[in-house]
Amino acid sequence: MKPKEYLSTQAQGLWHKLIDNAHNIVVMGHSGPDGDAMGSILSLARYLKTKGKHVTPVTPNPCPDFLRWLPGIETVVQAGTADNKAETALRACDLIIYCDFSVLNRVDDLASIISQLNTPAIVIDHHINPQIEADLIISDTSASATCEIVASILYQLDPDCLRDKTTATCLYCGIMTDTGAFAYNSDHPEIFIITALLMQAGIDRDRIYRNVYYNYSESRMRLLGHILKDNMIYVKNRHAAVFTLTTEEMRQYNFVRGDAEGIVNLPLQIRGTRLSISLREDTEKPLVRVSLRSVGDFPCNKMAEEFFNGGGHLNAAGGTLPKPISQAIETALKAIEEYSSLLI
Ligand code: 5GP
Ligand code: MN
Repeated sequence: MKPKEYLSTQAQGLWHKLIDNAHNIVVMGHSGPDGDAMGSILSLARYLKTKGKHVTPVTPNPCPDFLRWLPGIETVVQAGTADNKAETALRACDLIIYCDFSVLNRVDDLASIISQLNTPAIVIDHHINPQIEADLIISDTSASATCEIVASILYQLDPDCLRDKTTATCLYCGIMTDTGAFAYNSDHPEIFIITALLMQAGIDRDRIYRNVYYNYSESRMRLLGHILKDNMIYVKNRHAAVFTLTTEEMRQYNFVRGDAEGIVNLPLQIRGTRLSISLREDTEKPLVRVSLRSVGDFPCNKMAEEFFNGGGHLNAAGGTLPKPISQAIETALKAIEEYSSLLI
């Protein structure tokens, strides 16, 4: 068995044409960049630099602290800084590669700048229904992570690329974080073929795991206790959980970016639970950030589209609600009732 060949002969020609014609390339991840977004832009940046390109990895906002160990992280340019570096890089580049998102509103304010430009673009993604205009779209919803697709593409272009430990570390991080360390979205054999290739590069899987998952503060651990004990509503007859996190609680528990990561998965550990919804007050805007996780065939993405102005995957989706958290709870409980036939 071999990794998937994502590029047909024609697509490979187009890929080379787009890369050859570009000198300044922006590789862009989504807002609230996760391990998969960071892993894909950092590995691609590293690859493209070996081709003599000037590459700027850009994210709409900073990544969580638990990804700060990733090799190359210091090269990432964030939007919204006083020097406007991200905007300058975007206006100056002659190719943009969008990684790990399918709709342009996932880059926040950068979307309005991008829509003014006419820059050639490539999309590499694993979300449903890619809606970004691009010259080449490489999209596969059956891939665990964008990093799995990037790894397969690099392998197809030049198998030696995956022998680079730094590249392999970034790619493995994305696959690990998007599958909850191979606990979900990881039932296809190709993911282990790719992982085996990455391991041949000498990556330290145990260290990558510890860097991501054993890297919390004491106060984050106590916040977890507080949320599960005091803030979780468990709708027993619907096998669903809803919990909240307010900015006041974040202040109380010295919340830092990334501290909320993974908490939404925890209620799924209660026997028989099908759905978990997290409602978190945004620290900057007057809105509530919603995360949904499910097990089995419960469609989080449908619920996110219908109730939370969002979308995503079958088992992991998200969105936002422009209302106070007390009303957001009502919306979440209503959504659970409306979907009761799927929550038996
Ligand atoms: P998270 O709960 O980790 O923030 O997001 C889980 C998944 O939901 C993401 O990988 C993404 O696919 C999707 N998602 C999160 N927020 C949004 C959103 O505002 N809009 C859309 N369309 N998808 C989102
Ligand atoms: Mn992803």
